[in-house]
Amino acid sequence: MEKGLVIKNTGSWYVVKTDAGREVECKIKGNFRLKGIRSTNPIAVGDRVSIIPNAEGTAFIADIADRKNYIVRKASNLSKQSHILAANLDRCFLIVTINYPETSTTFIDRFLASAEAYNVPVSIIFNKTDLYTEEERHYLHGLITLYEHIGYPCHTVSAMQGEGIENIRSSLRGNITLFAGHSGVGKSTLIKAILPDRDIRTAAISDVHNKGMHTTTFSEMYELSDGGYLIDTPGVKGFGTFDMKDEEVGHYFKDIFAISADCRFNNCTHRHEPGCAVLQAVEEHRIAHSRYTSYLNILEDKEDGKYRAAY
Ligand code: GDP
Ligand code: ZN
Repeated sequence: MEKGLVIKNTGSWYVVKTDAGREVECKIKGNFRLKGIRSTNPIAVGDRVSIIPNAEGTAFIADIADRKNYIVRKASNLSKQSHILAANLDRCFLIVTINYPETSTTFIDRFLASAEAYNVPVSIIFNKTDLYTEEERHYLHGLITLYEHIGYPCHTVSAMQGEGIENIRSSLRGNITLFAGHSGVGKSTLIKAILPDRDIRTAAISDVHNKGMHTTTFSEMYELSDGGYLIDTPGVKGFGTFDMKDEEVGHYFKDIFAISADCRFNNCTHRHEPGCAVLQAVEEHRIAHSRYTSYLNILEDKEDGKYRAAY
């Protein structure tokens, strides 16, 4: 048996990079049923696996190591199954633009909360700095102050002009990093700037192995020349569904969670309860209004059943 890392998945074939440095095409042997997830792909990029090479030069995947985390999305709107986009992430880079197109703080905060729920650290990359007006720059600096204070490292880049790329490259070194962002924010341009020699394709691949006609998007994992991997997943909006109680949502807002220890009730939802330390902190601007609004948005959508549909 050899051990390795799954770096690509197209339908029923997986490409595994062995610890000895070979790339081997593999299929799954036997039945992988993972606890708690019904997924269309039992193995995903980022998984550590054991393989049994065969005479044809391909191999069977015989075993999969426990995951430290993974991200999923629903396989299709009608399906109850999930598609695992990637596993064992060290970090996620959320690429946003404050204009062209505008990324709302609600989107950023939902993304951050879902990443917390999935235990993936996030850095925020603000792209297209070459386009911003004075006023937009001012707003940008406000957001950077806000998010760095909460504990999310921020970077500014212009992917198009190649500014700030070295900084990004050095924070990728040695890690498995997922790139996510709204379409149009410049994710592909940024990945191309980081990996100029790669032929990056982000188009969806129709998965003939799945029953039905829906399209599945596969993650691509690129090896970085000085160590580490970058994962490009087309169209990731968040890290899956929020399947949590009202009083748990606040656990995934680090700034709200820190203060909620002082609420009178330990199941406080920070809306109307007496003795709520969070409400007081919002009033005193110790918690940003935008963060509290995003928090309320998630609670409201949960009540309407909208939140699940959004992911
Ligand atoms: P994706 O959908 O996130 O992969 O976005 P793309 O990489 O396709 O970029 C969307 C558009 O934004 C393209 O027209 C890019 O040329 C443009 N773009 C990307 N990065 C920058 C940047 O830093 N500055 C400017 N001015 N335009 C950019
Ligand atoms: Zn409270």
